[in-house]
Amino acid sequence: MQAKKSGKDIPIRYIKGVGPRKAELFEKLGVGTVSDLFYYLPRRYEDRSAIVPISGLKPGDTAAVIGKVLKVNSFRARTGTLITEVALGGDSRRVFGVWYNLPYIAGNFKPGRKAMFYGKVELQSRLQISHPAYEIIEGEGAGRSLDMGRIVPVYSLTEKLSQRYMRKVVDSALSGYLSEEPDLIPTPVRARRHLVDTKFAVQNIHFPYSFENLEKAYRRLVFEEFFILQVIMALKRSGQSKKGIRHEVEEGLMEKFRELFPFTLTAEQEKCIRDIRNDMASGNPMRRLVQGDVGSGKTVVAMYALLLAVSNGYQGVMMAPTEILARQHYVTVSKFFMPLGLNVRLLVSGMDRRDAERISGEISSGDADIVIGTHSLIQEGVGFRRLGLAVIDEQHKFGVEQRKLLRAKGSEPDTLFMTATPIPRSLALTVYGDMDLSMLREKPSGRSEVTTYCVAEDKRRAVYTFIREELDSGRQAFIVYPRVKATSSSELKAAEDMYERLREKEFAGYRVAMVHGRMKPADKDGIMRRFREKKIDLLIATTVIEVGVDIPNVTVLLVEHAERYGLSQLHQLRGRIGRGKYPSYCILMGSAGTEAAEERLRTMADTHDGFEIAEKDLDIRGPGEFLGTRQSGLPELRFGNILKDFSIMEEARDEAFRLVEEDPALKDEHHILIKQAISSRFRGKLKVKDE
Ligand code: ADP
Ligand code: MG
Repeated sequence: MQAKKSGKDIPIRYIKGVGPRKAELFEKLGVGTVSDLFYYLPRRYEDRSAIVPISGLKPGDTAAVIGKVLKVNSFRARTGTLITEVALGGDSRRVFGVWYNLPYIAGNFKPGRKAMFYGKVELQSRLQISHPAYEIIEGEGAGRSLDMGRIVPVYSLTEKLSQRYMRKVVDSALSGYLSEEPDLIPTPVRARRHLVDTKFAVQNIHFPYSFENLEKAYRRLVFEEFFILQVIMALKRSGQSKKGIRHEVEEGLMEKFRELFPFTLTAEQEKCIRDIRNDMASGNPMRRLVQGDVGSGKTVVAMYALLLAVSNGYQGVMMAPTEILARQHYVTVSKFFMPLGLNVRLLVSGMDRRDAERISGEISSGDADIVIGTHSLIQEGVGFRRLGLAVIDEQHKFGVEQRKLLRAKGSEPDTLFMTATPIPRSLALTVYGDMDLSMLREKPSGRSEVTTYCVAEDKRRAVYTFIREELDSGRQAFIVYPRVKATSSSELKAAEDMYERLREKEFAGYRVAMVHGRMKPADKDGIMRRFREKKIDLLIATTVIEVGVDIPNVTVLLVEHAERYGLSQLHQLRGRIGRGKYPSYCILMGSAGTEAAEERLRTMADTHDGFEIAEKDLDIRGPGEFLGTRQSGLPELRFGNILKDFSIMEEARDEAFRLVEEDPALKDEHHILIKQAISSRFRGKLKVKDE
């Protein structure tokens, strides 16, 4: 038996009432086939189901009424406006439909016939509805109508397509072809998750019999979309997990590790380390993303992974996005690991060529146990002898290719991704759905709290005085500006001008320096080094200080034009201070201007939890902008809303991973549809991280 054609094979012009010309208009909406039309969702719905008797109309209600057309009247107001009034009569009362400048309306109503109005009821010396949606009722009573007496869909349309026409076309597509529309969600999944089938969903998303049905239809369609997305994640995952390294965990390694530190690991660090150990001991390559605020102790966790790799005779590598960060990690890691006799090496581009060559040699011979560096690590000339673990710090600062290149220095090494820019779980499951996630939420104790103030321009002098006092007591400070150079078209303060000014005036007599992104890396590093060595009191900067700088003696951060930054970025900046034992202060200077800016600043003052801030940020800006500057890879979703429909995403993910575990190649005949959907539904637009 030959399968009947389903909607995706049927061009829209075959639907009754759609010819080639109309088909072109549909094309503009992205609707080329009957299936496209099925999944072209209404923008909103109007409840025209309950028909209210005219005597029951109340001003302010949005309601549908049926009555007999009593009178049709068109006239020009003094202003020249053409007014058309149609009176509908019912029991003992009447309601007027009123239209402005629509000459054709009058001809549509015939006294004595029945009609229905839908719209917002106003009381203007009489009951009236301005520009009601309307329907002429043919014959006796209300017949079957697509536009009245039900919950009515309202679509986003181009000019030449009317809502009524669209409803007709959708309706005839549904009655002609819906019965052939396949259902790609396997029956057991549907049963477990209480999902309606495709036919019910598509029918009710357009013409719901009730809002309850609409809800069910929506849930099903969103589930389907997330399900396909998560099947892709699961497939990536299962494709990756082949021939990883099985690291052996020697007796007592953890005790040895704990003893290295003068502090006790937090419970979350312990948990994260356990997860890493399990990942590394398994035969599947680890792909774990550790998210945690600056100072939450990610580096320590990464060090455990490095130690485990080295204790198995492998090499470990850790790549950071800036030289400053790489050096910082190098100092930390060698301090703790040198005493164990491990060879820790640094490879950055600012190095003497001869040193770089020597270290390259040690990397390829295997003499270097642990290598820390920047992008230099992924150059062609660098080859490891036995790379077992790759750690990528501030992973979102690297491109997909760069991360791949690092992993390619070994054969399926375990990989640990780290980020201090937490992404709420809802988004992480979408963007990083093929990784395992660890979070470090709590801060290790002994860290000073950062107090945050939002201040306006009129406090500027007091702020400078406050900073001078901190400098006088031996502390250091940052001032961050949004740009390097001033431009004539903008009133923004710029680092260069303010640097000149501050060191001559307000901070004359202090050691003031400047660092920004347009400087040569070597110069930048030189200044950061001197700042760290306390040879500079006040550092004027742009956001180059954003990533990972750790200088415990800095107690003040002044952010100028703070209203210009997103929440996450402000939080990142603030993370630069409060890293030592002194009380620290983050001063956000700016004029909120907009409500959103004000809310951001208030949030900053109120909370220090990076995850909370990220959630808020995501809430305010939405996924697209939230990810904006990062490697986004956000799939284009048509139905689901990552935030609002998060619980559906979790369910879909569970089912998707279960499915792929049971049938990794999607060979089962019931799964073929899913396979097809992966290539067609997202039309290849879905870019998921691929490493
Ligand atoms: P991150 O990499 O997440 O920014 P780090 O690992 O660099 O954080 O840790 C920040 C600081 O906190 C470091 O000086 C580190 O030694 C210290 N630290 C880490 N874990 C703990 C802990 N459990 N208790 C106390 N201090 C800790
Ligand atoms: Mg770090």
